[in-house]
Amino acid sequence: MGDRTMAETATTTSRVHAGTPARSVEPARAADAARAADAARAAGAAGAPLDPYRLRTDFPILNTVNRFGKPLIYLDSAATSLKPRAVIEAVDGYNREYSSNIHRGIYEIAERATGAYEAARASTARLLNAPEAAEIVFVRNATEAINLVAYSWGRRNIGRGDTIVLTEMEHHANLVPWQLLVQEKDGDLEFIPITDDGLLRLEVYEALLHLGPKLVAFTHVSNMLGTLNPVRRLTEMAHAAGALVLVDGAQAVPHMPVDVQAIGADFYVFSGHKMLGPTGSGALWARRELLEAMPPFLAGGDMIREVHLRRSDWNEIPYKFEAGTPDIAAAIGMGAAAEYLMDLGLDAVQAHERELTRYAMETLRREIPSIELYGPEAGARGGLVAFNLPGIHPHDVAQILDRSGICVRAGHHCTMPLHERFDLAATARASFDVYTIPEEIDALAAGLREVVRIFDR
Ligand code: PLP
Repeated sequence: MGDRTMAETATTTSRVHAGTPARSVEPARAADAARAADAARAAGAAGAPLDPYRLRTDFPILNTVNRFGKPLIYLDSAATSLKPRAVIEAVDGYNREYSSNIHRGIYEIAERATGAYEAARASTARLLNAPEAAEIVFVRNATEAINLVAYSWGRRNIGRGDTIVLTEMEHHANLVPWQLLVQEKDGDLEFIPITDDGLLRLEVYEALLHLGPKLVAFTHVSNMLGTLNPVRRLTEMAHAAGALVLVDGAQAVPHMPVDVQAIGADFYVFSGHKMLGPTGSGALWARRELLEAMPPFLAGGDMIREVHLRRSDWNEIPYKFEAGTPDIAAAIGMGAAAEYLMDLGLDAVQAHERELTRYAMETLRREIPSIELYGPEAGARGGLVAFNLPGIHPHDVAQILDRSGICVRAGHHCTMPLHERFDLAATARASFDVYTIPEEIDALAAGLREVVRIFDR
């Protein structure tokens, strides 16, 4: 925002940048918001800093208004992100210009489709710094990727009495598939507990590793607490104990640089729809030797090399795990999203969201002193903040905010055991992305003050 005043910024952004909330902001908070935006840009200084005001024009949905005529203030990106024009056009381009199946047609548009699908795989590999594109398996979402590992690797490698270590902060997607596996195989689940600040208790983890688990699976960033886990250290400790590691990167890949080789894990999963890509897209990365040793997950066309009436041979990786016609358009869209994010620079994205989170926590605590925030302080967390207003159900909070065009999530966010750990029935959650600006956090604070006022009457 440089030396521009907030008033100037508000005018400019509402005039130039579609979708920016055009509400007036009090001067003191406006100055803070301006400082937060400046800091976000300065923090990204290593590469080109991210300019959320400019890139908002890439997101057509930010031009829309709700039924009360309010512009969209989208603070639910952890559930699914908005999609930039580059992604929308990539999907549209496939459907309009070269809609055909992949890996089979010898005519021009089929070859174009295969090329675009495989180019998306290469972009995804680059996004994760995977050693080779063949280690990227396209799936529908992180949930499917974890189920793939649980069914294929798990059913071959987990037996009676074997232990899998998880954490208390897992999304149901990284819990329920393992429950089914150990129930079927008569194995055990153990859990790394968390501190009241929402950090993993590493001394207990150390002790659990003495049980000799076969697998340790944990989230990179918690979707409720925001906790950014020390994935490299957790992985090193697991490997030293002889366990393989699965990292759930659903809340990390969209928001920070992720390097699967530097982390050293064995499996890494994420969803495309949370990283500016289409729904129905996601990926599993795993080391080549693991994928080669794993049996197929689903069976049918494309995943085979030779089929006879009574037996078949499997295709090479990754095709062995991609049975049937995949969601070609979604995969191509996810590739476009990966390129979009890499063009922005993941360091700049992380710096922007880290500064927004710091600003959000500070603003919410100052403006609504009774608010309860969960998880570690900004800096040790990703770009989301779960909260409660004492005595007010989060569903009421979300419904009242909706009148002002503000979208937040309310509920258990698919982390019921984690809510139980904190003795909570539900929370509200605001989550941020590349297009989020400090003025939207000010609008959230104003909306929450209004909620408190309504319930105090
Ligand atoms: N893991 C985490 C940490 C998540 O936040 C989510 C979704 O919110 C998932 C897994 C599941 O993602 P999906 O529903 O796209 O499979």
